[in-house]
Amino acid sequence: MDTDCVSCGACIQTCPTGALTEKLARFQGRSWEFRKVQTVCPYCGVGCQIELNIKNDKIVKVYGVEEGPDNKGHLCVKGRFGFDYVHHKDRLTTPLIKHNGKFEEASWDEALNLVATKFKELKDKYGSDALAGLSSAKCTNEENYLFQKFIRICFGTNNIDHCARLCHASTVAGLARAFGSGAMTNSIREFERADVILITGSNTTETHPVIGNYFKHLAAYNGTKLMVVDPRAIELTEYAEIWLRQKSGTDVAWINGLMNVIINEGLYNKEFVENRTENFDEFRKVVSKYTPRKVEKITGIPEEKLIAAARMYGKADRGSIVFAMGITQHTTGTDNVLSLANLAMLCGNVGREGTGVNPLRGQNNVQGACDLGALPDVYPGYQKVSEAQVRENFETTWGVKLPPKEGLTVVEITDAASKGEIKGLYIMGENPMLSDPNLNHVREGLENLDFLVVQDIFLTETAELADVVLPGVSFAEKEGTFTNTCRRIQLLHKAI
Ligand code: SF4
Ligand code: SF4
Repeated sequence: MDTDCVSCGACIQTCPTGALTEKLARFQGRSWEFRKVQTVCPYCGVGCQIELNIKNDKIVKVYGVEEGPDNKGHLCVKGRFGFDYVHHKDRLTTPLIKHNGKFEEASWDEALNLVATKFKELKDKYGSDALAGLSSAKCTNEENYLFQKFIRICFGTNNIDHCARLCHASTVAGLARAFGSGAMTNSIREFERADVILITGSNTTETHPVIGNYFKHLAAYNGTKLMVVDPRAIELTEYAEIWLRQKSGTDVAWINGLMNVIINEGLYNKEFVENRTENFDEFRKVVSKYTPRKVEKITGIPEEKLIAAARMYGKADRGSIVFAMGITQHTTGTDNVLSLANLAMLCGNVGREGTGVNPLRGQNNVQGACDLGALPDVYPGYQKVSEAQVRENFETTWGVKLPPKEGLTVVEITDAASKGEIKGLYIMGENPMLSDPNLNHVREGLENLDFLVVQDIFLTETAELADVVLPGVSFAEKEGTFTNTCRRIQLLHKAI
């Protein structure tokens, strides 16, 4: 059957008679027999609020919370049906220690003693900077805070990072430079106030499905104009007024091209530029070189389409920009982000509802892991490790001396491990053997370590290489908070 159904399950939640029902919940009991616990979806940065329906300490089904501020009852297939892993038979339940290449079950005391002794030995022998930690965008804010504090205080190094390095580190750098803050400037629900939404480098219906669906709804029923800039024919192009199909890697050029037309046609916000920006004349000089004809040669976007797009964004009272990894994962990622920030500022699309520059963050708590300082150059709240006064404040609060040198990034930690400079690594809730680039290089680095500890809920590809594996708990088994892509901090409730 030819259908647009995406298996989101909204029809099941809505069905008043029970004619439509979840396969997994069949014969499990009546709805009123289930204990209901409201919490947050553990998958992506949209941060949908979910209601777990529980019987005999088992999740039977999941509903979207109607009052959930960013999902209003909606969920995607992952959030609604992807919960069976919580009860999977392969979940780790006891610490494992590797003896002669084989894991053996161990008590917590035994495992923790070994971990503490080995890391202390390595620190005494090779120094603090021979140790490192990888934190997790899947874990809570509280866990990330504690983990970075543990690495900085007990290991005595700033070698702490996590997977944001491989996705939105360029967003954090670019937006921090432009606005002083590396996150969405506006909230998700403000998209309905925008006249135009420029979406680039984000296949939103696949990667942030509830927001993608919201965009489709806004285009169909709210009069919102979508402009998609993407080399691929993603689903949202079917809902877009304008689709610019640039050659991969030419983003700075098309953004400069848009700004060239907007300036030449006098569509920019002169008052905003004068009062809120710096170095406009210099900027104008650079952008003047990016004529539509030249941009067509670089990007493949036809001149007239670029001009139409510039007019659409430039004339909108409220223009919002949305982007994701198609913008950030380039060697010019930070420049791409800065260019988008320039475009928004040129048109005064900052600081008002329904405007702004809005990176869609990937993992459920990647924003929180960054905010809480699981990064090698900043403490919680993006306070710089390199600034003596900041460091002193943390030393006073934490009651210890802290290392002044910035630490290594994820990529540098792997390199240093390959070279034998990093000897001991503690990984919490990350799986670089699946998610990092160049897996052979990652394997070489991890195998070259003297001591590797992995804490996770399954025996992952990375955990298999560890000397000690510590079992973790899933989102349904703990309390804490996740920070979603628009920086809404939401509470997790322990359900089982
Ligand atoms: S509500 Fe979701 S699952 Fe139901 S038919 Fe529509 S797309 Fe498919
Ligand atoms: S859109 Fe993201 S947060 Fe919402 S249900 Fe799907 S995976 Fe979970």
